[in-house]
Amino acid sequence: MNRLPRHDHYIAGEWTAPADGGYFPSVNPATATPWYEAASGTAADVDRAVGAARTAFEDPRWRDLSQTRRGRLLRALAELIGEHSEELARTESLDNGKLLREMRAQMAGLPEYFHYYAGLADKIHGEVIPGADRALLNYTLREPVGVVGAITPWNSPLLLTATKLAPALAAGNTVVVKPSEHTSASLLALAPLFERAGFPPGVVNVVTGLGAGAGAPLTEHPDVSKVTFTGSTETGRRIARTCADRLIRSTLELGGKSPNIIFPDADLGSAAMGVIAGIFAAAGQTCVAGSRVLVHREVYDEILERVTARAATIRIGDPLEETTELGPLAIAGQLAKVESYVELGQAEGGKVVCGGRRPELDLRGYFYSPTVFTGTDNSMRVCQEEIFGPVATVMPFGSEEEALAIANDSAFGLAAGVWTRDLNRAHRMAARLEAGTVWVNTYRSMSPMSPRAGFKSSGMGTEHGTEVIREYTRLKSVWINTSEEPVGDPFILRS
Ligand code: NDP
Repeated sequence: MNRLPRHDHYIAGEWTAPADGGYFPSVNPATATPWYEAASGTAADVDRAVGAARTAFEDPRWRDLSQTRRGRLLRALAELIGEHSEELARTESLDNGKLLREMRAQMAGLPEYFHYYAGLADKIHGEVIPGADRALLNYTLREPVGVVGAITPWNSPLLLTATKLAPALAAGNTVVVKPSEHTSASLLALAPLFERAGFPPGVVNVVTGLGAGAGAPLTEHPDVSKVTFTGSTETGRRIARTCADRLIRSTLELGGKSPNIIFPDADLGSAAMGVIAGIFAAAGQTCVAGSRVLVHREVYDEILERVTARAATIRIGDPLEETTELGPLAIAGQLAKVESYVELGQAEGGKVVCGGRRPELDLRGYFYSPTVFTGTDNSMRVCQEEIFGPVATVMPFGSEEEALAIANDSAFGLAAGVWTRDLNRAHRMAARLEAGTVWVNTYRSMSPMSPRAGFKSSGMGTEHGTEVIREYTRLKSVWINTSEEPVGDPFILRS
């Protein structure tokens, strides 16, 4: 039997074999077959990577680089990503089963993250604080925090890495990234581009491996000054606890159970498409999935009809095919999770009106049909817990107040959609929805320029936009006595 291609860690600009010699397979979810092996990181590998990042942080080639030049390196990286975007898109599609079309679009947008933060790199600065004593000059320095540990999930591996990497580097930090065990390949393909762009070795390092084996030691390492994480709320809580113990900061982008709310005055055709995009794009494996569809009673039947009609005709198949509209779930465990939630929803009293099963296909992968539940109540577990698959619950409401009450009755607060032509209602809803992002007459719009924050159990801290620079810097206050007067004896009170 042919051995699978093997990938090592990327540490200090070099491919580095795992300290204990362990590797693990990564599976192509469309075919359910392993297609490469990645190094199984342990605390020893993490220690080596953090050491390299610490050395690079102190290296004058990085530490003393002007901020404008830092920006230039980010721009050079953006250009290189653009040149390799087809290869990166294909790799991601093979690794997580998302549509090649979608990954191409994501890769086309990826350089924007680096360009945006390249432009911001030389606009990071402290300020002069006026005080009562004019002889005392008080100013602040906004400094990088040091070594950043970045832990990412499998649903959008490079996009979510770029979200963390670009601002962390713009602020002058060095980084160790631990990608999901299910999707190491695209980041490993990207890794050599850092040095080609001109970053000194060790500024960005990649340690692959499992959460317990490589992720946990990264959050616990004494030389890691900050952790940034995207993934499940449960793991996020664990990481936040570790960081709290160590008194270091963490940025957490976690799960969601986002409401997508349709009022009777909405353009119903667009709203139905917004529902489809919200929950069935990427097979529902996005943190912002619009999994709770709330529809005003007056238009409930019509929306349900439109949504189920389109859901039933979504073309499921090979994610590399141009005509495929829905690929597999990324991992076997995710398929099992979706299946068990669909069973649970029925046991709770919900009715499956579309999907609710694995499709019949020639492919052996982890496919699941777009599924729509009716008859659910917002208190049911299928309406409260993140399923992270193509499963929508469609629930009726009678008034704006009722829609708000149902929408906000959730432990999560990541995103919300509102469909209405009433401008005043749009603003009222935007103000009262407990969600870090509110979309009106659109869903899933995103830009590196626009801040993203999860309210409640959906996260802590901000990503994207200019605010994120605060997450990757620390503030120092400097006082300088500019007076020529000698400093007096502190025990002699002056009048
Ligand atoms: P996790 O939150 O467990 O994984 C996310 C990342 O954290 C991965 O790199 C994982 O490693 C790592 N990790 C796991 N445990 C630890 C730990 N103790 N310390 C440090 N790092 C750790 O998500 P899963 O992949 O297990 O998915 C489970 C559920 O999470 C999904 O069903 C979905 O509901 C939700 N999810 C939400 C995402 C979002 O965007 N908000 C993204 C992905 C998942 P590894 O995978 O290598 O073991």
